[in-house]
Amino acid sequence: MTTRLRSGLAAGVAALTAVACAEIASPSRGDVFEWRLVVGTDTLSFHWPASSLPVKIWVEDQFDMPSHIARGIAQWESAFLYNEYAAALVSDSTTADVLVRTITAPPKLAQTVARLPSMVRPECTGATDIDTVATRFQLQLPIRMFIWPRFDPVLNDLTECFQVVAAHELGHSLGLFVHSNTLNDLMYFDPTATRLSNRDINTAELNAHGPSTMTPIR
Ligand SMILES: [Zn+2]
Repeated sequence: MTTRLRSGLAAGVAALTAVACAEIASPSRGDVFEWRLVVGTDTLSFHWPASSLPVKIWVEDQFDMPSHIARGIAQWESAFLYNEYAAALVSDSTTADVLVRTITAPPKLAQTVARLPSMVRPECTGATDIDTVATRFQLQLPIRMFIWPRFDPVLNDLTECFQVVAAHELGHSLGLFVHSNTLNDLMYFDPTATRLSNRDINTAELNAHGPSTMTPIR
């Protein structure tokens, strides 16, 4: 899977960079990493349509996770110049676009779900499930996110780990479906960065202004 992803990506990055230069009147988009999801022969990209903003996120109220997610939302919102992304915490899980649970990720639901496992950190870890549906060009809502402790949170301060994982998993939920290969990026598979790097920001902006081949459905 990893090899297949990588091999298709180099050409994709070059093509997309060219598109972005034409579409966005900006002197330089800077360095980016490949973020699109390759499923079989399909390359899937996604960003939230303006009509879906703010994205409604429900968070399980444990381990102070709502505040960790709120902090992550603020980080990503500030990465965009023109409010291309906005999200809000909601109390009704049945209408939420994204569900954040604080339990160990259960077995993957189906073949159509792409799991983005992250964060092989000692203290805590995370995973985000993207349901590509059978057509692959639809995104079944809600996106399901899992963030859970690997040490006893009563005996250990997991605050920083939860904050980093929360922001990282949110990056997946806004369309960054592939991990960066650079240590300093928050979207590195095992990040230590506590803030978004310029590459994280450049990539998120490029995604927000590029084509979205997946349509969110319920
Ligand atoms: Zn990840």
